[in-house]
Amino acid sequence: MRQGTTRAFVGALLLISAAPSLAQTAAGSRTRAHVEFLASDQLEGREAGSSGERLAADYLATQLTRMGARPLPGRTDMFLPFEFTAGSRDGGSRLTIAGRTFTARTEVQALSFSDDADVTGPAVFAGYGLVVPESQNVAYDSYATLDVTDKIVVVLRYFPEDADEKTRAILARYSDLRYKAMAARQRGARALLVVTGPRSPNAGQVVPMTFDTALAGSGIPAASVSGAVADALFASGKPLRDAQQELDSGNPHMAGFALSGVTITLRTSVVRERHTARNVVAYLPATAPVSAASKPWIVVGAHYDHLGRGDRGNSLASKEEAGGIHYGADDNASGTAAVLAIAGTLAESPQPRRRHLLVAFWSAEEIGLIGSNAFATKPPVPADQIAAYFNFDMVGRMQNNRLVVQATGTSPAWARLLERVNVAAGFDLVTQADPYQPTDVTNFHAAGIASLAFFTGSHSDYHKPSDTATKINYEDLDRVVAMAATLVRAVGNGDEPPVFTKVDQPATRGTIAGVRVTTGTIPDYATEVKGLLLAGVVAGGPADQAGLTKGDVIVEIADKTIANIYDYTYALELLRANQPVRVVYTRNGERRDTELTPIARQ
Ligand SMILES: [Zn+2]
Repeated sequence: MRQGTTRAFVGALLLISAAPSLAQTAAGSRTRAHVEFLASDQLEGREAGSSGERLAADYLATQLTRMGARPLPGRTDMFLPFEFTAGSRDGGSRLTIAGRTFTARTEVQALSFSDDADVTGPAVFAGYGLVVPESQNVAYDSYATLDVTDKIVVVLRYFPEDADEKTRAILARYSDLRYKAMAARQRGARALLVVTGPRSPNAGQVVPMTFDTALAGSGIPAASVSGAVADALFASGKPLRDAQQELDSGNPHMAGFALSGVTITLRTSVVRERHTARNVVAYLPATAPVSAASKPWIVVGAHYDHLGRGDRGNSLASKEEAGGIHYGADDNASGTAAVLAIAGTLAESPQPRRRHLLVAFWSAEEIGLIGSNAFATKPPVPADQIAAYFNFDMVGRMQNNRLVVQATGTSPAWARLLERVNVAAGFDLVTQADPYQPTDVTNFHAAGIASLAFFTGSHSDYHKPSDTATKINYEDLDRVVAMAATLVRAVGNGDEPPVFTKVDQPATRGTIAGVRVTTGTIPDYATEVKGLLLAGVVAGGPADQAGLTKGDVIVEIADKTIANIYDYTYALELLRANQPVRVVYTRNGERRDTELTPIARQ
């Protein structure tokens, strides 16, 4: 790292080490040099487990050492490694029908959530393999008249192609392959084979093995097969194309059928790629006597990983930008720099601190909050000794003086404390009680720790290569640092730790915390309007498909009124992938509505 650093950066670094206050004046910012280094070409987007991530971790440890932070008690360095699944690939799946064996990945490929198994059984075709719960008022059950116990179920990918829009919208929700696998498993099937029908997009192609962080399988062997394999399966009866055509009307009474005489032998094998990433954790010891009874630790944290070149499936890059370095300046070099600067501020402060300040940088946040989860589920400092956790994720793009503080529902102490420290800071605070946010704070709430998460809002560069250091609003980022340092100091020296309150997950939300969806909208931040003004839409994305375009103003989504970007961001978190919602918008002053189906970000 050190050899490769640019001259400008070495200069900034020397100034910081020589005299931090001077560096602040010279560079104009306490955070800028950190962001510029973390979001530089050299770090290649800091993907968890990559060499860029390791360089970033080394840098953070160096900075922590410089400010006088130490490894946690009982440890010799600041790195807390953990393992994670970075993706999956097929480990040699194969399939035999009537003496013919298919082994090529273009013919048979495990689904990424498949169990590893060797199974043999009679084949049965179950149409689209869809089961819609009764509550949806659409009677559709591919298994209604079919016994699939101990059989190998063959289903079509997607959902009926020609059904009316309303039916499609409902069926689409239940067409996720994981859901189909679960439905087959619950009906006693031995395995699931998926074929992309001749009348569907990607006809005859196997399903790509998507990025999937699942550590284990879904309880059933599942694979996708090619059109050639499907031809072999359907050789003696009704051709697949005819069967699909009948199903495609959406008629729920079109039953599946046994593929008579066809016995399948299937082996599935998934290799889940395990990688190691590192959290970087150190602490500044208390500077006044610690009272053991009052939770002697506080934690400030930010994730420092990002998307690398965006090839793990969570990039929002356009076709032209695809494969480029995702610099992650706002997400989350900004929060990382903020935490360094807050810790640095407290390290220099002559004011007493009765609690140890644990300074943490998480990795693998972008692929499922994995680093902070590893920490929170096996904390090196007992969770009941931690008085509070402060999270910083995307704090570098403040607009109009607005600072979002989330998870305020985790303690009744937060409202007054925030109000007090904001007198000097003067932000327009937007508080959200909900700790179920798509960032590391959710893991600390789950561990029973009073928490806060700071955020300056999303923007059109989110998860794209264009999230660069030049776009950071350093002046306001430094103001966030100053305000947060005051808050952290107050809690660090306070008599009583903030009382923890568990926040129930809102009933309207999906069951998986932190699910991220995208609607493919590009908000216009520069113009003040009531609602969400679109600067554009992502070509081919959900908003584009819903007919939205530049200049439209979204005023309602999924029955939530939208007055500003914050309302919108919050509403997005309540949406579920592949679940269509009604969007009300104005175009040239005229009120219109449409249906939009968000898609999963990953
Ligand atoms: Zn992110």
